[in-house]
Amino acid sequence: MSNEIASVSLPDGERIPKLGQGTWEMGEQPSRRAAEIAALREGIDLGMTLIDTAEMYGEGATESLLGEALSGVRDDVFLVSKVYPHNASRRGVQAACEQSLKRLKTDRVDLYLLHWRGSVPLAETVEGFEALRRAGKIRHWGVSNFDTDDMEELFSVPGGEACATNQVLYNVARRGPEFDLLPWLAERSMPTMSYSPVDHARLPKRSPLDDIASVRGVSVFQVALAWVLRRPEVFAIPKSGRIEHVRDNRRAMDLQLTADEHAAIDAYFRPPRSKRPLEML
Ligand code: NAP
Repeated sequence: MSNEIASVSLPDGERIPKLGQGTWEMGEQPSRRAAEIAALREGIDLGMTLIDTAEMYGEGATESLLGEALSGVRDDVFLVSKVYPHNASRRGVQAACEQSLKRLKTDRVDLYLLHWRGSVPLAETVEGFEALRRAGKIRHWGVSNFDTDDMEELFSVPGGEACATNQVLYNVARRGPEFDLLPWLAERSMPTMSYSPVDHARLPKRSPLDDIASVRGVSVFQVALAWVLRRPEVFAIPKSGRIEHVRDNRRAMDLQLTADEHAAIDAYFRPPRSKRPLEML
């Protein structure tokens, strides 16, 4: 399988892989550790070099696992981490980022996200992110779980327009963002990062995805992932701690769904006709 992978552009023009890897729930079970590291390394070899984590995951255990998994390949990876909202004050982000860098065994995070909105004013978080950027500790910053009105508010604070992306729950079973959020971001040349692209393995037991999968000789997960990746402005971070699933996810990039397959999916997983509040996992 080729390690050449399609890319998307951040607003400043930097290109990053369209398909990456998530890490939520990794590093929490000692018996799974070696398999998880092997899966992440396989993904990197296959070009899925965008890796998403957070200080929240395993309360630091996931970042520590990544610190080990990225040994010798750190510079090949575009590394994303997230700060807890309660750490998102001007000073709090500095301290939280230093802790993440230590666990990740690196000197910089490529993209640092506010995990979700909390009570700290956005202007303060943006100031903290910009200070980190000037210090070279982060290269880009962005947000997660921001609905359209949150994005409007972010863009109204000084420096808010420097946001690189919004990481949101978007998959075939959670299509709400198509109504207004995805277009809002695209109009500002900001790619959308889809989390839980295979709905955290909770897709319906029986749906048109099964028929498509059986005709194409692929898995339902691959169909769901190919569906998310069909939009040029969307990039995705499926999580898998198993080499065979990582390979399947990489192959999903090469799966082009036909117009008939899209119609069958739309008839079951209906596109939104009105605003739906952004969902979160
Ligand atoms: P996901 O990637 O949609 O699904 C992960 C689940 O699907 C795991 O149980 C995994 O099992 C299974 N899976 C993945 N690929 C598979 C395949 N090809 N065949 C069969 N099973 C497959 O869900 P997620 O972990 O919630 O989301 C992805 C990443 O997004 C997270 O890891 C995290 O980095 C990020 N995230 C962010 C937020 C946020 O608030 N910003 C929230 C949720 C997630 P195996 O490991 O056994 O393969």
